[in-house]
Amino acid sequence: MSDLPDDFNCTITNWEYIYSLCRDVSDDVRQDEFEPDVIVALARGGWFAGRCICDFLGLDDLTSLKMEHYVGTAEKSGEPTIRYPMPEGSVEGKDVLIIDDIADTGGSIKRAQEYVEQRNAGTVRTATLQLLQTSEFEPDYVGEQLEEWAWVVYPWNFIEDMVDLISGVMETADEESFAKADIRHYLNEYHDVDRIEMEIAQPNRLTEVLTEMERRDVVEMTAPGEWTLLE
Ligand code: AMP
Repeated sequence: MSDLPDDFNCTITNWEYIYSLCRDVSDDVRQDEFEPDVIVALARGGWFAGRCICDFLGLDDLTSLKMEHYVGTAEKSGEPTIRYPMPEGSVEGKDVLIIDDIADTGGSIKRAQEYVEQRNAGTVRTATLQLLQTSEFEPDYVGEQLEEWAWVVYPWNFIEDMVDLISGVMETADEESFAKADIRHYLNEYHDVDRIEMEIAQPNRLTEVLTEMERRDVVEMTAPGEWTLLE
């Protein structure tokens, strides 16, 4: 998220919604009569989906592949790379379903497919819960296609994303301190995050996120109900 502009739309999701996308992907795989032997869930975004799809399809072979966009500390490479090689025997001779949360550029899932295919797997197919129109790669199975580009805040990284979003809006708005209402206002202004939609998707989480931001020394409470961004 760090390379995004100050202003971009976000969609906050919840477990139920994402679980239903896992079910939709599983239904498509079943309907297609594809019977994978193993699921490869891309770390970290594909883990929840990988586990749920195993359950829906009745599979117990689940393995992981960690994709990374970074080559050095803060250096971004255009090409996604594999962080940890797969253990021998993970996919060789097996029919594989690779799953990730979202295809944005599509680079991660495409690279993962190439990697698995090079390891003498059987049939290799790909799936993502969501697909953006920006993707240059079309997975075989897609939970839903999004009409407009948005940053999707998934329930498994709600705190991680909210810490980034809140510290980002505090920096952009550049005020001395922020009350919760100010934070909600700027989340709406810069990221189109509606207060009611956020409370429906992730009820009562703002205080939790701010407390965590204090613990991580990202913000400091300067007066009751007022937070300041630390350097
Ligand atoms: P990609 O550009 O398709 O290689 O995306 C790489 C990974 O970055 C995805 O698996 C997500 O975990 C994350 N990601 C990229 N774009 C988004 C987005 N719009 N919303 C949420 N996560 C994203």
